[in-house]
Amino acid sequence: MPTTIVVGAQWGDEGKGKITDILAENADVVVRYQGGNNAGHTVVIGDEEFKLHLIPSGILHPNCTCIMADGTVIDPQVLAQEITGLQQRGYACENLRISCNAHVIMPYHRLLDGLAEEARGKGSIGTTRRGIGPAYTDKTARMPCPVRFADLSDAQRLQDIIADQLAQKNVILQALYNHLALDPEEVFQQVWPSAQMVGKYATDTRKIIQESTQRGRRIVFEGAQGTFLDLDYGTYPFVTSSHPVAGGACLGTGIGPTAIDEVTLVCKAYTTRVGAGILPTEAADDAADQLRDRGQEYGTTTGRPRRCGWLDGVVLRSAALVNGATSVAMTKLDVLDTLATIPVCVGYEIEGVLLDRVPAWADDLHKVRPVYEELPGWQQSLEEMREWAQLPPAAQAYVEKIAELTGVPVTMISVGPRREQTIFGE
Ligand code: GDP
Repeated sequence: MPTTIVVGAQWGDEGKGKITDILAENADVVVRYQGGNNAGHTVVIGDEEFKLHLIPSGILHPNCTCIMADGTVIDPQVLAQEITGLQQRGYACENLRISCNAHVIMPYHRLLDGLAEEARGKGSIGTTRRGIGPAYTDKTARMPCPVRFADLSDAQRLQDIIADQLAQKNVILQALYNHLALDPEEVFQQVWPSAQMVGKYATDTRKIIQESTQRGRRIVFEGAQGTFLDLDYGTYPFVTSSHPVAGGACLGTGIGPTAIDEVTLVCKAYTTRVGAGILPTEAADDAADQLRDRGQEYGTTTGRPRRCGWLDGVVLRSAALVNGATSVAMTKLDVLDTLATIPVCVGYEIEGVLLDRVPAWADDLHKVRPVYEELPGWQQSLEEMREWAQLPPAAQAYVEKIAELTGVPVTMISVGPRREQTIFGE
């Protein structure tokens, strides 16, 4: 595996946390390359459940260096809470490193995120209101220079940047949103206790990652969200503000594409989506309720119920292409245990034409009619199965269908949340 990118094939929540956690067991370094605390990974170890929003799942392996790289955005208050929570459960977090260049989510980003989403009304794009989008917007805007992670260790510098930022933000808050201006000193006081705690993790993470690839150390790049939430390749504008696709791992960490050996595409056995935006294979109410109940499809970060639908082969094929996938890890196959038959979308029809991949123009996606094949269900529990040969033929056929649709071998099959509920190879 020397360098492997783990990336979600659908709209996030595919179970990347579990897959990364399994790969991290043999990894020297685990890296998050984009996004912030809009992610939400749940990892189950024995009877213990860990919900991580920001820190990579690799933190649970003390010998693994855990990195938040240049392309991430970090809320110091959330980071401080997450570190404290892990420390209280016996994880010291001494293996954590954070890029000095990662941009920082400030209280005014959270405020502006919420105000902008409310102002959109019915046209809301379903952001998590955690300030991620506004932090990336400031990064791209560049002036005045926003807070970056290394700035957190210097009180005077942090105060100066906050004052510069608020000189601009307060105009927007007052004029556009009819909101009170923020006081720079109050904002500083809000952030400073956490900044003091987390500032020490700032370092040159590029160097660690570049040297690790040169030395052939095993690195897992952990993508958050999913392919169809990518800023460029997702269903725009209902997307996130960063690049979850595999290419984002190079941009977000400071290595070139030739340093990547493998791309593992994490595909959930059915489809879910949180918030607004197109979901071509969305199931009818009863079937969606059943999938949501069995799959516990409620957001880790927001608790929002997820919209549920059938497996979309067109989405998976397109994801395999845009990410250059070399293998598929299929998750939550057990959620389908009770179904007599299972619809799988094998193509889209649009005005009499059959499409085998997601149209580039997102508006066209609203016009497609999914073409389904009905696959037989297996109607027995897969949860205790640990080998390919134990899987009933109908479950094997379902997995083989994924390999056929993506053109990529399925190398991991997950049949439950726990680490050991995993079947390797085909
Ligand atoms: P991520 O953000 O892609 O890691 O996904 P989430 O953590 O939001 O969602 C995955 C959820 O499904 C977590 O609660 C996992 O513990 C759980 N999970 C992962 N794999 C499986 C599986 O194979 N079967 C079942 N039933 N649950 C799983």
